[in-house]
Amino acid sequence: MTDLALPKQIPNWIDGKPTWAEAGERFTKVDPATGRDLAEVCRSRAADVELAVAVARRAYPAWRALTPVARGDHVREIALGIQRRADDFATIVHRETGKSRKDALGEVKAAVEMGFFVAGEGRRWYGRTTTSAIPNKHAMVVRQPLGVAGLIIAANTPIANVAWKVFPAIMCGNTAILKASEDTPGTAWAVAKLAHEVGLPPGVFNVVHGFGEEAGAPLVASEQVEVVSFTGSTVVGREIARVGGARLAKVCLELGGKNPLVVCEDADLDRAAESAILSAFSNAGQRCASASRVIVFDAVYDRFRAKLVERVGRIRVGAEDSDDFGPVINLGQLESMLAAVSAARAAGAKILTGGERITDGAHRDGFYMAPTIIEETSPDQPLSRTELFGPITAMYRVRGFEEALALANASPYGLTAAIWTADVHRAMEFINRVESGVAVVNGGTYGSEPHMPFGGLKQSGNGMREAGTEAMDVYSDWKTVYINHDPSVT
Ligand code: NAD
Repeated sequence: MTDLALPKQIPNWIDGKPTWAEAGERFTKVDPATGRDLAEVCRSRAADVELAVAVARRAYPAWRALTPVARGDHVREIALGIQRRADDFATIVHRETGKSRKDALGEVKAAVEMGFFVAGEGRRWYGRTTTSAIPNKHAMVVRQPLGVAGLIIAANTPIANVAWKVFPAIMCGNTAILKASEDTPGTAWAVAKLAHEVGLPPGVFNVVHGFGEEAGAPLVASEQVEVVSFTGSTVVGREIARVGGARLAKVCLELGGKNPLVVCEDADLDRAAESAILSAFSNAGQRCASASRVIVFDAVYDRFRAKLVERVGRIRVGAEDSDDFGPVINLGQLESMLAAVSAARAAGAKILTGGERITDGAHRDGFYMAPTIIEETSPDQPLSRTELFGPITAMYRVRGFEEALALANASPYGLTAAIWTADVHRAMEFINRVESGVAVVNGGTYGSEPHMPFGGLKQSGNGMREAGTEAMDVYSDWKTVYINHDPSVT
């Protein structure tokens, strides 16, 4: 592959080639680490989305006609290509997001692993066979693709987000249109370019850039798009459910979280503190699975708080490999977090550390938020109930397990949850009763594996799962088959 640097101009990728918006419009992508302009990006509207949909529809019959094994082979080729160019992809992710190259490389490797897993699923596209009440009749259930998949993603882990949607969508036999996040257009563009160069037929994987209401909404509304898979905020997810639901499209929603990490009195406090810090602050807290609520037993609260505050004092914020986390993705995001912290302060919350923008030296023009720990905020305050999607977490003091569990569950969200305890029975009670799609014992609230399903309850999703074999349920449907192999016998 020739050039995999982040281009200064980023077009759409449609029908195997770069394509600019019909109206010629562009927007500017800003570098979150410096506040400087990074690239000019194609600003798509409904007409551009229609073109991509028409192309994907045209490519569908031939792609669908390949065996799942052959489609899996294509996915494997893409994953191998990304692996070969891992450093180049990491550089693009690093430049677009401001996260360190080291963290970006970790994310690239996760995307490759997802590719390998999904490629293997091509050989495990299992259906079911069963008996029939009728002699000489065979009954079975097989999977079938849906058609055109409309994929809409967030910016927080850009290449992983592409991999989690595009790989299962195309392996299942659909053709795809990815509406990349306006904050990370380069990563999606580079994956599409690479996929083309390693032999993916034109039109199977298309990328459109642009803003949500201009480029995302037409994709959701298109009658030609059979499945919409969305990763993003709950407020946008609700709108997508409404529009997609009205036309009876299949809709997969992976939404926000307000994830609790519970620390019991018998926990290994040092390891729990390390885990809470990583869960709350790694990737600048821009994880749907970040620990934004740390619920601590009264008996160890003061000691645990001291450990957290001491560790936060050692966190280095910046875009280099020696730093712990980088900027947040855009200025709007930074400003909304600052507003949320100041509203919490006004309502009586105590800011233990951080709470402000970092503006010294190299941070001056970037979108850096200091790692922030808040306490004495009540569970019904907006800060306790609203996802902030940044390096901000709140601590809550509880008397014991029942109170911790009740508080963990007192949330509109239900994505992930973690408990730190040495008590097996208590851990099992937590696993059984916590209202979340993921439950972790003695670990962080984040960190999913490609072969395991991921998704949430309540306002964190709509019952679908990404990754794992369960992802194939999003992008395929069942066909019940009866074969009467000797119709003369009834
Ligand atoms: P967002 O909802 O603002 O945007 C996500 C995507 O949706 C973007 O590509 C955006 O352009 C598009 N969009 C916006 N409005 C749209 C509309 N009306 N129609 C169609 N598309 C539209 O979210 P964000 O701030 O970019 O991302 C952060 C959110 O993503 C957080 O809530 C986070 O928890 C969530 N997230 C969830 C998961 C998960 O797997 N559950 C993973 C990562 C991020």
